[in-house]
Parts: sequence; structure tokens; C-alpha cells
Amino acid sequence: MSKPYDYLIVGSGLFGAVFAHEAKKKGKRCLIIDKRNHSGGNIYCENVEGINVHKYGAHIFHTNDKTIWDYVNSFVEFNRYTNSPLAIFENEMYNLPFNMNTFYQLWKVKTPDEVKAVIQAQIAESGITNPQNLEEQAISLVGTDIYYKLIKGYTEKQWGRDAKDLPAFIIKRLPVRFTYDNNYFNDKYQGIPIGGYNKLTEGLLEGIDIKLNVDYFANRAEWDAQADKIVFTGKIDEFYDYRFGQLQYRSLKFEHQTKDTDNYQGNAVVNYTERHIPYTRIIEHKHFEFGTQSKTVITKEYPEEWNTEKEPYYPINDAHNTEIYKKYEALAKADSHIVFGGRLAEYKYYDMHQVIGSALKKSQSI
Ligand code: FAD
Ligand code: UDP
Repeated sequence: MSKPYDYLIVGSGLFGAVFAHEAKKKGKRCLIIDKRNHSGGNIYCENVEGINVHKYGAHIFHTNDKTIWDYVNSFVEFNRYTNSPLAIFENEMYNLPFNMNTFYQLWKVKTPDEVKAVIQAQIAESGITNPQNLEEQAISLVGTDIYYKLIKGYTEKQWGRDAKDLPAFIIKRLPVRFTYDNNYFNDKYQGIPIGGYNKLTEGLLEGIDIKLNVDYFANRAEWDAQADKIVFTGKIDEFYDYRFGQLQYRSLKFEHQTKDTDNYQGNAVVNYTERHIPYTRIIEHKHFEFGTQSKTVITKEYPEEWNTEKEPYYPINDAHNTEIYKKYEALAKADSHIVFGGRLAEYKYYDMHQVIGSALKKSQSI
């Protein structure tokens, strides 16, 4: 007997939503289930005081790929927001990413040649020639002053690990620039959906059956019986009953507060880079959409170690976890009726545009 759906999609985050949209376009019947009480996964926004609050942390869309930019803009128009976070260390403010403004604030040097000389002297003194971990990579990019003031404390609280035990690629996400340019991203396209990310999710999921508050693992056999194929965007280790051991994740606690002021910190993102301050950043959401509301909503982001009671926000792509993941990946490759996609199922530190790229690619096989 034929099953009611062609695809059961576990997870209504960006991967699940893009895949479902593409499958529907090709005439496939899709059912999405999600264990949360809303769709959209981590891009979900909640409206508070007329402000779109990024419930699971600040999300700024950026990509170099015009196809992906046009794709998201076909569901909702994006504004021209440019992310320019600030960092506070010992009561001093610095511009991010590391650029001529930051270097001037640190050393009062004004030209790229002077800056490069300062950084080169610090790198030479450190003796690092072949960086093997995040600490060595950071020092060999920006020298020791920036490492100790703006990177080490933030990184170690964010990841709960010594910077020497973390992979170098994490710090390469941040541009280092010898121009006076505070744009956090190098990508050509950047912005926030006008009216919030839920508009993107709603556009993608239009006409698709969805059931919320449903955990796939609570009734696996019943859900499997619903469709010929499965798209899985949850934790890949859980999918395979942890048979090769648990993968590690980093979790977060978000503390949202409404403040009776129209402007709390003057910028959407302010990072706190000292180790002893328990949160990594404060987000003031209204600035993402240039809001003029009389109140404001801020969110403090506290990193936490993950356990099964918490949300797995970040994969920890160190050597230990990569070795475990590779075993799960081999099983996944052999399971041809299941598509594994997204941050948790591919165990990758993906940004939104990369998740969309992956979903579009994997949906080509439909
Ligand atoms: P998710 O959004 O996690 O969706 C997975 C969904 O699956 C969830 O809704 C979950 O409830 C559901 N699910 C999982 N297991 C089950 C189950 N067993 N049964 C039913 N449902 C299940 N990217 C950017 O490009 N720019 C940014 O500025 C940015 N900022 C970020 C800030 C933070 C704090 C975080 C955590 C991420 C950020 N990202 C950012 C990354 C972005 O959130 C992800 O790339 C993207 O949202 C991941 O989509 P996804 O579909 O893979 O996963
Ligand atoms: N980072 C840092 N200081 C900062 C901001 C970032 O050391 O003020 C490092 C930190 O290791 C972090 C990484 O750069 O995990 C990537 O930062 P990004 O802003 O991309 O992190 P995300 O928004 O994904 O949490």
C-alpha cells in the first residue's frame, strides 16, 4: 500500500523548510514534524513590543552567492543591515572585526604599514610558524594583544574549552582587515528580512503539512510509516542510537529582557570578551530593523555545556568529535532512502546560506 507522503521531514529549520519547498515544487507530498512548538528552527523570531526578537540568538544573513540571495529575497525582501559588532574588554570599547579602527583603539597607530609592523613583531615574538590550534592561529593572524584582549576570554567561555584544544578554522570566520571598515562579513550580500525571519519560513512552508510538538524519536516507527523517504535534520548520533558514542555540542541560555528605554546600547551586537563575565554578547534586536519603538528588547547569551536536557546549538568540530562523526557519516552514506541535512545532521558549523546551499544541492536528487 502506498504511504501517505513521499517525504517525512524531521525538523522545520532552514534545511527542512528549503528541502520541503523544493520537493513540493517537484510534485512531492511532504510532511514536516518538529519537536518545538513553532517552525523555523533557530531562525524563529518572537514579536515583543513590535520588535522581532531573534529567540535563538542574533541571525544576520550573509552570502556571496547571488542565487542564494535571490532565493531568500523571493520569499521576503531583505533590508541593508550591515553587522558591525563592538567588543568590550575591561571597560574599553573596540570595533570588530579586527580592522584599522580596532588597531587604532589599541595602539594609536594610523596606517596599515604601522599596524602590520606591530602585529609582525608580536607574531615573531610568539615564535609560532605553523599554527595547529585556535590559539596559535589567532596569534599568527593578529598578534598577542588582540588575542589576549578580544579572543581568548570570549573563545574559552563560548566553547568551554582551552583555545589550544579548539580547531583553528573557528577563528578564520572573522575577517582581519587593514582598512577602516567595521563590516563583520566579507560577503557581497547581507541583510535581515524586513518583518523578521518568520516571513522566510512561512514563504518556504506555504502549502506544506506540518505537525509541531512532535519528537520523531518518541514514535519512530509510526512516523517512518508515513513516507517513502526521510529527510532528517536532527542529531545524527541520536538517529543511530549513539552506537559510536555521543557527539558533543555547545549549548546556550538566552536571557531576554524588555527595557523601558528606546535605545539600550546603541548597537545590535556588543560582545563581552572578558572570561569572568558569564555571557558572550548582548543583542539589542530592534537595531536589526532600524526600529523606532518606544521600548527595547535585549538578550544576554550565556554559553553552556550541552546535555540531553538542552538544545544543541553548535557542533564541536575538534579531532575527537570529527572521528566519531565520520563513523556516523559512513552509515548515513549507505542509507540511500534518508537525506541527512543541516547543522545537526551534517555536524557542521554552518551559517544560514550554507544550510540553504546544502538543502538546494541535496534536493536536486528528488
Ligand atoms: P535548526 O535551525 O536547528 O533546525 C532543526 C530543527 O529540527 C529544529 O526546529 C528542531 O526542533 C528540529 N528537530 C531536531 N530533532 C528533532 C526530532 N528528534 N524530532 C522533531 N524535530 C526535531 N547563521 C548565519 O548565517 N548568520 C548568523 O548570524 C547566525 N547566527 C547564529 C547564532 C546562533 C546563536 C546560532 C545557534 C546559530 C546561528 N547561525 C547563524 C546559524 C543558523 O542558525 C543555522 O545555520 C541554521 O538555522 C540551521 O538550520 P538547520 O535546519 O540546520 O537547523
Ligand atoms: N570570537 C572572539 N571574539 C569575539 C568574537 C568572536 O574570539 O569578540 C571568536 C570566537 O572563538 C567565536 C568565533 O570567533 O566562537 C566565531 O565568531 P562568530 O561571531 O562567527 O560566532 P557565532 O556568531 O557563530 O557564535
